Amino acid sequence: MPTDPAVHPPHPPHPAAPGLRRRPMLACCAASLAGWLGSLQCEAADAEPTTPTRAVPGVRPPDPALAALLADTWQGLDPGALWDAHAHLLGTGDSGSGCQVHPHLMQWWHPVESLRRRTILGAAGIAAESTAIDRAYVNRLHSLTGDFPAGARWLLYAFDQAHDDAGRPWPDRSTFHVPDRHAAAVAAAHPQRFAWVASIHPYREDALARLDRALADGALAIKWLPSAMNIDLADARLWTFYDRLAAADLPLIVHGGEEKAVPGAERPELGNPLQVRAALERGVRVIVAHCASLGQALDLDARRPRPVPAFSLFVRLMDEPAWQGRLLGDVSALFQANRRPAVWRGVLARPDWHGRLLHGSDYPLPGVGWLYRLEGLVRAGLLAEADRPALEALRARNPLLFDLALKRRVRWQGQGLADGVFDTRAHLARRVSKVSPGSTV
Ligand SMILES: [Zn+2]
Repeated sequence: MPTDPAVHPPHPPHPAAPGLRRRPMLACCAASLAGWLGSLQCEAADAEPTTPTRAVPGVRPPDPALAALLADTWQGLDPGALWDAHAHLLGTGDSGSGCQVHPHLMQWWHPVESLRRRTILGAAGIAAESTAIDRAYVNRLHSLTGDFPAGARWLLYAFDQAHDDAGRPWPDRSTFHVPDRHAAAVAAAHPQRFAWVASIHPYREDALARLDRALADGALAIKWLPSAMNIDLADARLWTFYDRLAAADLPLIVHGGEEKAVPGAERPELGNPLQVRAALERGVRVIVAHCASLGQALDLDARRPRPVPAFSLFVRLMDEPAWQGRLLGDVSALFQANRRPAVWRGVLARPDWHGRLLHGSDYPLPGVGWLYRLEGLVRAGLLAEADRPALEALRARNPLLFDLALKRRVRWQGQGLADGVFDTRAHLARRVSKVSPGSTV
């Protein structure tokens, strides 16, 4: 079976090793957003990743630096345990999926919003004017996963609408919406590669019924973005929901810290990492997205609360003995250029935490070039300058693989992210082993 040694890991055994699918190169920098557009139309429609193809132009002859980078990336990893804990689904509903984006994202007279949309679609390899965005998004993502060994999986996120305090849908404050049924259907269509994460606003009247449904349909976690969805984690109305999550051992993935990609309800105070104590106290396993690595939050434990780096509050929580077996963090987006070197070093310097950190890509964001300027990592002493060309080459060809390789490469004072960070299955498959398929909890 012809494979491209420059891209494919020599380790471990890979029964259906595909070559890179023929796809146009993506230009990944802010100045060439327009260059991203139009990149998807040539994708083979939902080709199974078992069909080997010739490599893209420029890949041969094999690039020894890229081959070495990939060999290093997979060294010591079990691809079957590599479950990407943070991948977004997006769509416009053009396939009947029920997905929505806020109208402002479609209108040129809202330049920031429409740029946001073009950026995100570009990162996902989709032309802004595509009329089949739902399908194109999934096809592109599935195609990228074909460059990974068998067994690697991605958890695809549903995303509920913002709701007002009375529990009514708040479409005007919803940047985008991905229904549970769409995420479940995409996962069911590609069970070898995808699993799904439900998103249920806890203020909704039918929240518990929806949670039961998500459990029955095999959701592996619940995802909230409190600042955008308008969820106060400390609201006593959430206790029953928390109790149900704890009983089912279903993790709650919560965005902590500042959120730039999805403004939604614009309630930044609800993203305060300390708020997750309310869920932890009720026995819920909580995964704080991005380790709350962006922005500031009020130190609510202080007598006179003042803004501090949100990450420092996450650090405090991780060090509180009560949450040792319950509080986790995902490392998605962590090495983006908008994070501070102190955050990067802070995570790498704490190998005692690494068993509680989960790999996630925050797809499609690894395709947004300016978010991943590697110079900053080199300047901060986390990455060797010599590694840059191979990483850049890999990003142009497969942003998912680039994201993984980057996380495997960064070091601070000799310490990288431990292999256990990439054994995410250990955290996410607990329910799978406990619950037989189709049963309710
Ligand atoms: Zn995300």
